[in-house]
Amino acid sequence: MARRFASQRLVIATHNQGKLAEMAALLAPYGVEAVSAGALGLPEPEETGASFEANAALKARAAAAASGLPALADDSGLVVPALDGAPGIHSARWAGPERDFARAMALVEERLAGSRDRRAAFVAVLALAWPDGQVELFRGEVQGTLVFPPRGGRGFGYDPIFVPEGGRESFGEMDPAAKHAISHRAVAFRKLAAACLAR
Ligand code: IMP
Repeated sequence: MARRFASQRLVIATHNQGKLAEMAALLAPYGVEAVSAGALGLPEPEETGASFEANAALKARAAAAASGLPALADDSGLVVPALDGAPGIHSARWAGPERDFARAMALVEERLAGSRDRRAAFVAVLALAWPDGQVELFRGEVQGTLVFPPRGGRGFGYDPIFVPEGGRESFGEMDPAAKHAISHRAVAFRKLAAACLAR
């Protein structure tokens, strides 16, 4: 049984404004107030783990230990089986320091040359950590197919090359609400809410 969350304040272990806004909105219906790691002046740990789980857990643990409050972190990325799971935990890194995702998507296309297997999945792992070191992990995935050239100007990251299973539009073309209803982060959050949050 996962430990249930009974406090009112939760640190969101991210310095990314987009992730903060998305997580604060998901938590609001549960009466949980989200405070960002950035606002508390917490340092950003280096992501040295070898899996989404390890990186999400190390970010959540570091924020909980430094703040004395429960903390929530996420780690996510695009997993391509024909590339042995790449870019995976290195999804952000493939875009370089300039965060150039046109380049990252071109790199995926280049590495796939000669392969007919276009399957891909977006993966998100949420980690909820307590100051005593306990961590609960929740994994969400959405399966799909890669398309080239990239399609649509909505969303972020690798959205324009990913068409979810059963759909025709890429995440970059879809209405954002439709993406958020089926996304890897939404799946992981629903699991976390069912296990740890009271309504
Ligand atoms: P991190 O979780 O901050 O280490 O980085 C995750 C990276 O994975 C992002 O920078 C994006 O490149 C990619 N990614 C994660 N979720 C999505 C998504 O919903 N759409 C597009 N790209 C995503």
